[in-house]
Amino acid sequence: MIDFKKKIFYINYKYKNKGKNWKLFQEQIENQYRPIKELRKIQFQRFKEILKHAYKNVNFYKKLYDSANVKPEDIQKLSDINKLPVVKKLELKQSGIDNITAGNISKGRWAENHTSGSTNIPFTVISDKNYDDQEHAAWLRELSIMNYSPGDKILRIRNHYDKRGNFLTTIFNRESHLSCDDIEKNVSKAYEKMVKFNPDFIETFSTSIIKIASFMINNDLKFKLKGIQIMGSPMDENQKKVIKKAFDTTVLKDYSSAEGMRIGYQCEKAKGYHIDITRFIIEIIRNKKPAKEDEKGEILITNLENWAMPLIRYRIKDCGIFTNKKCGCGRSFPIIKDIKGRLIEHIKTTDGKVLWLGMFNSIMNPEVKFINKFQIQYKDDKMIVLIKPTEFMNEKKLKEINNKIDDIYGDDLNFEVKIVDNIKSAESGKEILYKNENPTNLGGFD
Ligand SMILES: [Zn+2]
Repeated sequence: MIDFKKKIFYINYKYKNKGKNWKLFQEQIENQYRPIKELRKIQFQRFKEILKHAYKNVNFYKKLYDSANVKPEDIQKLSDINKLPVVKKLELKQSGIDNITAGNISKGRWAENHTSGSTNIPFTVISDKNYDDQEHAAWLRELSIMNYSPGDKILRIRNHYDKRGNFLTTIFNRESHLSCDDIEKNVSKAYEKMVKFNPDFIETFSTSIIKIASFMINNDLKFKLKGIQIMGSPMDENQKKVIKKAFDTTVLKDYSSAEGMRIGYQCEKAKGYHIDITRFIIEIIRNKKPAKEDEKGEILITNLENWAMPLIRYRIKDCGIFTNKKCGCGRSFPIIKDIKGRLIEHIKTTDGKVLWLGMFNSIMNPEVKFINKFQIQYKDDKMIVLIKPTEFMNEKKLKEINNKIDDIYGDDLNFEVKIVDNIKSAESGKEILYKNENPTNLGGFD
């Protein structure tokens, strides 16, 4: 049977804004396969433009570059980027919104994106409408890898959802929304809502979909869809297995944050993240120098599209590893082999050892039946492991988890496991897995 709502939505999408959005979408799909030389040329051109714009129209950058004695004209090639100072979230926040946004872009064009606050500094990123169109096209491009066609139904799992911006998608029943909080409160009701909407795709944080998937497995339920897109949150192989067991579909992750959505994405090979270098410059820095291939470093992002609030060499507080290996999929976009978690997942012990707390994911994630939520807190050389248990948790399981932690971290750290009633998520619905007052400084920045 022909789905008329889908058909009308498709036609509307193709011709709205004089076909501009459709053109962007097609252009972004093609960009993936253009020769890398061409892409680098576009990247550098866009970089020069936004740099000039930021220096001229954003007080913060004018002041920053003047005091560092550097001008946009000094940037003659991409590697000159290291002449520019790096930018911290706290500096931007303290400068005040009027000083970090472009004076020549009207506030009427603004949209607000809130960072999750998982680094303890909540921050609002302003974007303009042009950027939002680009970002939307990039999102659909990711879904296309899982066989998306415009008009497919998408269930979006997140706490912030702007219905006004999605007027047509709501009218034509193409998008629906579930909040992470609702899933946590009543997973069975959330599951029913999902089935009723009958989506082709789900866009979600890994922690939320895991809860639905575990519920389905425990109750022997199945649900078929085209694909699941995990946005900007960690997911290991164990979690992926749980999701795939319940949904039996493609599960792909992307690299997104409020400071830059859809920075990178997994292709059908699901190895690493292709970085769209026409939209971003991604640097990976180890001790103030570009990290070598396969070397872990701190990620700096330069968003080439957001002219309302330029972010140039911004410390996004993630760690990553570049690889020069080509992907078998044929896309030219370079690859970040791995996003090695947030900087706050790395701690320095008193005897100078750097430990990655990410191993907790592999201890905790297979135990979805027993653990509803967890959070690792590191302070004064002591690690507190908070666990919000499910009804299935028992003494034996708790002891087993204790032993596993002891095996991995016991030699280097004092730790204590605490059972709690609740663990607060970030406002966006993303769970805060790590709290750390003394993160390591891989990039070597001051
Ligand atoms: Zn690929």
